[in-house]
Amino acid sequence: MTQEHQFKSGFETRAIHAGYEPDAATGAVIPPIYATSTYKQDGVGGLRGGYEYSRSANPTRTALEGALASVEEGERGFAFASGLAAEDTIVRALTAPGQHAVIPDDAYGGTYRLFDKVEKVWGLDHSPAPVSDVDAVAAAIRPGRTRLVWVETPTNPLLNIGDIEALAAVAHDAGALLVVDNTFASPYLQQPLALGADVVVHSTTKYVGGHSDVVGGAVVVRDLELAERLTFHQNAMGAVAGPFDAFLTLRGLKTLHVRMDRHCDNAERVVEFLEADPRVAEVIYPGLPAHPGHQVAARQMKRFGGMVSFRVAGGEEQALAVCDRTQVFTLAESLGGIESLIEHPGRMTHASVAGTDLEVPSDLIRLSVGIENVEDLLADLDRALG
Ligand SMILES: *Cc1c(COP(=O)(O)O)cnc(C)c1O
Repeated sequence: MTQEHQFKSGFETRAIHAGYEPDAATGAVIPPIYATSTYKQDGVGGLRGGYEYSRSANPTRTALEGALASVEEGERGFAFASGLAAEDTIVRALTAPGQHAVIPDDAYGGTYRLFDKVEKVWGLDHSPAPVSDVDAVAAAIRPGRTRLVWVETPTNPLLNIGDIEALAAVAHDAGALLVVDNTFASPYLQQPLALGADVVVHSTTKYVGGHSDVVGGAVVVRDLELAERLTFHQNAMGAVAGPFDAFLTLRGLKTLHVRMDRHCDNAERVVEFLEADPRVAEVIYPGLPAHPGHQVAARQMKRFGGMVSFRVAGGEEQALAVCDRTQVFTLAESLGGIESLIEHPGRMTHASVAGTDLEVPSDLIRLSVGIENVEDLLADLDRALG
């Protein structure tokens, strides 16, 4: 499919077909796992199909990268060994020592650690700002020095919403690039490039892969000069997705829209159940009209996603007990897979920010609502609430 054709066809068609034509030699409708490190040359420099060495490019990865570019409405996609490998490559490719980044004050913990312990040593310093407050993000920009405005929306675990269009305007006014970590929404629910972002990054470990069986990352851009730098750094730094991982991630991407609609259906039912339950003190979900980011989320997202956070009545002890008692919801970190997960951010994913401004309430529980039978999920929560 040509790029133009890709943009015109529906998301679901692109998720299934973009990036690959049935193999000319065999007719294989799904890209094979090209488990090869190198490629025979027809005479010195005579490459068949442009492949030379699998760090630089591999046909299974090429298929995934084409599909990622298409579903994010970008020009070029890049697949990495993990979300953090993708993030590190963005920073090295698009910034220089002495520059500065604004990052979410409730960034994914691994992202915060990367900026604070790795990129800072390299010479890129950072300031935190709340993504839901465009003025605060603007105020955190250091004129002439800020190169990246980096946001997540929705954020984790409080599901704060950033206005991508407004944040892009603020970043561009300052001569900076807007990077959006689109992991929580997935490309099905939100396309940041179409709203003015310059770079989209994903942990494809989550909704894109979708089956909790592979770790991966992705970057998508529209601008060809950014693409050229990312191409160089992807090869030069070498944190690429291997062909087996690329195969699994592409297999996941093909059903993203079907899974995501069910994640949203089930999450909406879970929210309705929790909202009506006196054992629950507060439900946090951008689909609720009372959520402070609801209007913005309704404008920029197709639906409100599969992540739900809530505070229990009864404090931390009760929150820990609920996490211990579920049987269908599995107690585990991570998110975005077919199976429902439950976790206690204060003691698990966000334990490292305890005692700082980023500390999360101790009675908070985070759910990654899966695609099991929803009545089973509601019964499990009902039982676990005691
Ligand atoms: C998991 C996650 C990452 C990191 O991705 P890995 O694949 O674990 O390296 C980055 N951002 C968000 C929002 C995540 O949830």
